[in-house]
Amino acid sequence: MIGIFGGTFDPIHYGHLRPASEVRHSLDLDALYLVPAANPPHRVSPIATPAQRMAMLELAMTEFPDLKADDRELQRGGLSYTVDTLQSFRSDYPQTALVLLMGTDAFEGIESWHQWQRLPELAHLIVMQRPGWEPESSRDWVAERIASSASELATQLAGRILFYPVTPQAISATGIREALAAGGQVSGMLPQPVLDYINQNHIYR
Ligand code: ATP
Repeated sequence: MIGIFGGTFDPIHYGHLRPASEVRHSLDLDALYLVPAANPPHRVSPIATPAQRMAMLELAMTEFPDLKADDRELQRGGLSYTVDTLQSFRSDYPQTALVLLMGTDAFEGIESWHQWQRLPELAHLIVMQRPGWEPESSRDWVAERIASSASELATQLAGRILFYPVTPQAISATGIREALAAGGQVSGMLPQPVLDYINQNHIYR
């Protein structure tokens, strides 16, 4: 199984890295790709440039060598639709189960995503618990796809939804950007090489 975890990563932090790493190991994924969005459709443009967000991901990987960074959305440019990204991974891995990771907040809004009905046709969805957000499984299309254990995902290439408890990390990129802009402390929320890079390049100040 190949994992795909999209985000703005403005900047990457332990709230992304630790849950992703936990999923990678507990589900024994063959690889887990972090895919930064060029322009995320539903939000204001990132502050850090695509090159800076990619550089921060690469720096974070030194502490998380079990994760990989993938720049296909940045290469593609324009609005980054997850459906296009999954289609692209599906072409690379025609016969391998794909799992799309997201936090509970992202899953909550998934029905506003471009061609969202195609997402479970292309991949399994793994919803990682995020502090302050309760998983919502009452929607019909969700209820009929719920997997009760990770082992169920291996039996098909796509189509199941797994709510996965990860160690909660009360960290957000917004919180980090706001703290940095106010001259506050963010150590412990993201890898030190990433923080050094932010400081050296005066991002978010
Ligand atoms: P922002 O505060 O700028 O909205 P963010 O911290 O939510 O950023 P994103 O890059 O927007 O980070 O999120 C990418 C993905 O990571 C989303 O699926 C989101 O749900 C998930 N995610 C972010 N932070 C956490 C966290 N602390 N725990 C679990 N999942 C998280």
